[in-house]
Amino acid sequence: MSVTVILPTTLRNFTAKESECTVEAGSVQEALEALVALYPEAGPIIFDEQGKIRSFLNIFVNSDNVRYAEGTATPLHDNDTLTIIPAIAGGSGEGEARTDEEGAGSAPSEDKPQALIPPERAVKLDNDEVLRYSRHLLLQEIGIKGQKKLKGARVLVAGAGGLGAPLCLYLAAAGVGTIGIADFDLVDATNLQRQVIHGQRDIGRPKTASARDSIRAINPKIKVEVFEGLNADNIEEIVSSFDVVADGTDNYVARYLISDACVKTHKPDVFGAIYQFEGQVTVFYPPYSPCYRCLYPAPPPPGLVPTCSQSGVLGAIAGIIGSIQANEVIKLLVGGGEPLLGKLLTMDIWHNRFNVLNIPRDPHCVTCANPESLGPLTEIDYEDLCGLKQEAQEEPVESIEALELKRRLDAGESITVVDVREPHERAIVKFPGAVVIPIGQLSRRQNELDPTCDTVFICKEGQRSILAIRTLREAGYTGRCFNLKDGINTWARDVDRSLPQY
Ligand SMILES: [Zn+2]
Repeated sequence: MSVTVILPTTLRNFTAKESECTVEAGSVQEALEALVALYPEAGPIIFDEQGKIRSFLNIFVNSDNVRYAEGTATPLHDNDTLTIIPAIAGGSGEGEARTDEEGAGSAPSEDKPQALIPPERAVKLDNDEVLRYSRHLLLQEIGIKGQKKLKGARVLVAGAGGLGAPLCLYLAAAGVGTIGIADFDLVDATNLQRQVIHGQRDIGRPKTASARDSIRAINPKIKVEVFEGLNADNIEEIVSSFDVVADGTDNYVARYLISDACVKTHKPDVFGAIYQFEGQVTVFYPPYSPCYRCLYPAPPPPGLVPTCSQSGVLGAIAGIIGSIQANEVIKLLVGGGEPLLGKLLTMDIWHNRFNVLNIPRDPHCVTCANPESLGPLTEIDYEDLCGLKQEAQEEPVESIEALELKRRLDAGESITVVDVREPHERAIVKFPGAVVIPIGQLSRRQNELDPTCDTVFICKEGQRSILAIRTLREAGYTGRCFNLKDGINTWARDVDRSLPQY
């Protein structure tokens, strides 16, 4: 059977940058093995040490998740499309194409939810508001009834970044009465390429303050509540005071924390994630749809899926995905349309692939199968779940500061510097005299390194270089390796200020 395999961006460093390939296979297992035969370096990303598919990956045949079919034994037919969907945290994403035909497969498990805002919570509009929201009022599906519900609604936007920006702007413009914004971060220059709620003069300000000002500039009647971040101590109380949560965060700890809190408080979690050119959107809302843990029981091991700050993200995908999230929120509040319940919308805007995949609930989900039995979230170790502690337990990697590396190089010491960044990153700034070995090629090119002399690995932020050193060690390399602490940006900051930072 000839099968098309759609590859997520996160795998493409290991698949010669290909976004899809064709393999001959009669089952999912055979297709994945054929894929690994084509691209051996993708093997450890797809399969764990026991040969099982890693749990941060979902494999779909056409629009159905094989986890709820026959797993890797699921048979394939000619011209089937097999899509690999990994968990992506925030500024990260991933996707494929094809539309869902007739909602094939499992629909949401129970009846659709009622409108989140019951009629008694609708708030009367004044004449100015009737004029302002005229284009909504002309829509039969929203009308005066829906607009009054929006005015009475309370929406929490988690993260005032790439996704939070369009979320806040469209929800404010749409007349959602109260918007909560949770973020602990300050605006920096690299945010402005996509976080359109912040401007040049906001650099250095808290994102919550900047977002609040932008919302007020659009619609002064919106009430804004700001929170300096969400954690296991505060999240349940905060979430329970809102009608819906829109998750625009950028890390796995926040994703699991928000999903768990929403399950416990019975609130919908409107999820969006982006990565490079790809995005995912769904509404997690048990029992009407799965929760985040149903879809991704575990996050990827640290370092395996790069972040947007390491791999980049097209600004417009943040606008697209955040806007779709805002649209999902509005549908839930007024109680109309077809929310993405039990459906994962994925897209790759570089190739214009759009898809709606079925995502059933996991009847054995540790969180939503029996939410009443969940203990306090403060007793869940999210850092451990996300492998952040496990990483600390691994053999430590030696770091070197930029100034110390400069001193040793100036002293004429025999040091090899290996740049593991991608070619387009080296086009931004080069490290003088560095040997270039992309991370995906390190294990097979280790013989180019001299184990008798010290080797310093560099990347943008000092994370991929740690992964590079671990990869080399696993491949049996015995030479002494150092990680340039915090990456080449620190070299530009501390040693050679003529170089750009990015
Ligand atoms: Zn679940």
